[in-house]
Amino acid sequence: MPLLEFTSRGIYCAAADVYLDPWKKVPKALITHGHSDHARWGNQQYITHHDNVPIIQHRLGNITVAGKSYGERFSINGVQFSFHPAGHVPGSSQIRVENRGEVWVFTGDYKLENDGISTPFEAVICHTFITECTFGLPVFNWQDPVKVHRQINQWWAANKAAGITSLLMGYSLGKAQRLLKHLDPKIGKIFTHGAPEKMTEVLRSQIDFPETQLITRETNKKQIAGNLVLAPPAVMGSAWAKKLGEISTGYASGWMAFRGARRRRAVDKAFVLSDHADWKGLLHAVEATGCENVITTHGYTDIFAQYLREKGWNARTEKTQYEAETPETTVAE
Ligand SMILES: [Zn+2]
Repeated sequence: MPLLEFTSRGIYCAAADVYLDPWKKVPKALITHGHSDHARWGNQQYITHHDNVPIIQHRLGNITVAGKSYGERFSINGVQFSFHPAGHVPGSSQIRVENRGEVWVFTGDYKLENDGISTPFEAVICHTFITECTFGLPVFNWQDPVKVHRQINQWWAANKAAGITSLLMGYSLGKAQRLLKHLDPKIGKIFTHGAPEKMTEVLRSQIDFPETQLITRETNKKQIAGNLVLAPPAVMGSAWAKKLGEISTGYASGWMAFRGARRRRAVDKAFVLSDHADWKGLLHAVEATGCENVITTHGYTDIFAQYLREKGWNARTEKTQYEAETPETTVAE
């Protein structure tokens, strides 16, 4: 029997009787990170990294959860488990599973760049590597995030000079805080929509962020004018956004590398900034594990697995219910 199996409930370790990021309710779940397709409601017991505990408590309410440190080994029915940094969002982990000398690693979602808010990705040596491949196409080749953050501040400063409000959109856990961390508060004030504001509030105990001001019914257009508003992509074209007055819209996502996605989103400014590994990042991660076997779970799974087979890996795809964000939906809220 393989150490980890792909079942109708999720990735299952029969030897320990636990699931990794299950998509159906189970007695015991090990959780990589707080996005809704990985941390779902209804499990009896959760085990995750310490920094992810307040995040999933905020999202899932009153749950039974135990926190672990990175690299801390713990045993369940004689199987060894540990969490290792995935660099995806704050508190995100890869999960290492070892039994009788055999080691598997499940990545959840990950990226290799240091985003300034998440503990940076660390490669973990293993025999079998279960990897996401949301951006598993060679066309995805991220530029230095420092340059992207500079572009965002320049866009904001230019809007400010023209008296226009900058509406900057990114998903509420991870992207919003990464954007916030690198905004230059010298340019103006930073206002927030409720969703990123609440999640940022949860993370302020772990991470130092610039000051933000929640937009309420009392907030008027004059207060906001020329400043920046941080909001989830769902506000695009909404009544909420219309109340902001004259705005320039900016959207930060890996999908902004696709011209079609930019056009359909109809944003004024597209910033290519992703919390997932690009093509080279995925390859680098696979190589760094020293693994023989690769299982691809979500994204461009078939293309990436095919490429790996051509390069000599024993690679295959398994179906999961993790949602590779698409240019249209940008889930992972
Ligand atoms: Zn995620």
